Amino acid sequence: MRNYLSLSTLVFILPLFLSCASNSPNKKTDSRLSDDSLVDRMHDHIAFLADDAQEGRGIGTEGLERSADYIADKFSEYGLMPLFSDSYTQPFPINWGVAPLPETWIVSNEDTLTLGEDLMPAGFSSDGVISADVVFAGYGITAPEYGYDDYDDLDVEGKILLILEDEPAMNNPDSKFEGTLITQYADLRTKAINAKVHGAAGVLVTKRAVTDDELIDDLPELHTREPFQDVGIPVLFVKNQTVKKLFSRFNLENAQRSINLNESPRSMPISETPIEMKTTLRREAVEVKNIGAMIPGEDEIVVIGAHYDHLGYGQQGSRLPGSNQIHNGADDNASGVALMLELAKYFMNNPVNPTLWFVAFTAEEVGLAGSSWFVDHSPADIADAKFMLNFDMVGRLEGRKISLLGIESAKELRTLAERSVDVGPVEAAMAGGGYGSSDQTSFYIKGIPVLHVLATPHADYHTPEDDVEKINLKGMEWIYKFAMIFIKEIAEPEITLTYQESKAPPTTSPSGRGDRPSLGTIPDFTQPDSIRGVRLQGVRPGTPASDAGLKAGDILVGMDDIVIDNIYDFVFALKSHKPGDEVELWFTRDGMKLNSIAVLKEAGEGHR
Ligand SMILES: [Zn+2]
Repeated sequence: MRNYLSLSTLVFILPLFLSCASNSPNKKTDSRLSDDSLVDRMHDHIAFLADDAQEGRGIGTEGLERSADYIADKFSEYGLMPLFSDSYTQPFPINWGVAPLPETWIVSNEDTLTLGEDLMPAGFSSDGVISADVVFAGYGITAPEYGYDDYDDLDVEGKILLILEDEPAMNNPDSKFEGTLITQYADLRTKAINAKVHGAAGVLVTKRAVTDDELIDDLPELHTREPFQDVGIPVLFVKNQTVKKLFSRFNLENAQRSINLNESPRSMPISETPIEMKTTLRREAVEVKNIGAMIPGEDEIVVIGAHYDHLGYGQQGSRLPGSNQIHNGADDNASGVALMLELAKYFMNNPVNPTLWFVAFTAEEVGLAGSSWFVDHSPADIADAKFMLNFDMVGRLEGRKISLLGIESAKELRTLAERSVDVGPVEAAMAGGGYGSSDQTSFYIKGIPVLHVLATPHADYHTPEDDVEKINLKGMEWIYKFAMIFIKEIAEPEITLTYQESKAPPTTSPSGRGDRPSLGTIPDFTQPDSIRGVRLQGVRPGTPASDAGLKAGDILVGMDDIVIDNIYDFVFALKSHKPGDEVELWFTRDGMKLNSIAVLKEAGEGHR
């Protein structure tokens, strides 16, 4: 499940919205329902998919390939037809991985500083060569709510900036930057964009001056197993000693100590003569694949899905990023795949009226890329899909209460779900519209009613501790029974679903302050690198973006004077505003550049 809805937010939001459906005392007792072979099969699926051998089903790993083969084999073993004409797989490319090229250096006076020895490009750096003066810009942070701005009264137009990693006074529990907690301002991408928005031409990043003995003056390893998208400005990591080599009169330690002590900026020009920096990176793309099978029926289609990728060795989204530990993802989402496979087996032997599609999506953890690709390249007209049921994290049920997210995506869903719950072994809390943090969102955007089935969130979420031993198989058996009943309910020909635009629920941001501004757009996370700007996959009605006349397919290229080159610029532009702010939007449609005024609102689920 993606980090749109962080675990803390999820845990926070759920109690607010959930109306509990039918904890009727006459719940059928367990023993009559138990089907050991079902439980054994589900256990085997999870044990295989969450085994260390599958390398956390990270993008670009052989483990993900083996998992794909396993799922396709199971579909075939259970007798289902391939979904993609005669294949169970739907391959497609995503941006993945980056490698620095030798043409990456700094030249100052006669000195040439080299790749790997003195410097290393950031994975999100763009390619470029710049010759300019260098300005020290502290931590490179603009944080209005903390009354702190390293750019205050600083001319950085066309300059190269030297900035520090992390944030001021990190070890001071009383610091205005939330004490020892790390704030969003420590994020390096955010800093790079902040530099770009202030007009800088390039950025050098160095570690906090090596005063604390736990810090080593080294260069970060370039993560090659990550989805990368360049932020539109060249960024190089340099060692502290490289800073000393380049700017002999500048004392980094003193400047940093002064900032930390006073929690106020100490930005200043530091180079006597311009330096030259060059960055060259090779971007790679990998082929990933959705896995799909079908049980033919009437024209209407019901889609049953679950993503099978996870975080590999701790890629972006991990709560232990860079830990290089296998994130087994037993609950997220080997459990959903296991349940989807067993429903496929069941309905193969107990067909229903509609055609059933069973799909294991890839690349959910990197922006719902697999399901977005699927709905744009579906094996039949996606408009024929009556409903999409998504299983994501169904393995750690506590008690009997599951969550059904997206219940308001169709008028009749709540009644149908309550009817199924009444006869099944679970209770259910139901909430929310069709926009959420998992693959159902891609279908909802296409006008299809959806539901995300979720068991109980837990602290192992997105960590290496999400292991098979902790799976509650009995709980999964209950959810399977509920799903079986519910799908039959939905599948009845006389049942029609009336798609509903979901009203944005009142939000609570993780900090508890409702000050995250929103436009109401849904970015297209599969847009090719060649597109400058953010292509919109959808625009939510009744939002600032739709009021401003934006629509799916438009490419957002600017907000006020912030140039939007990619998703990070867009996030940055939003973060630089508050709900209620009036902004001028720049966008292109069919090659034409247009502009419009929008008034930002408070953020809601699943959109920006
Ligand atoms: Zn997931």
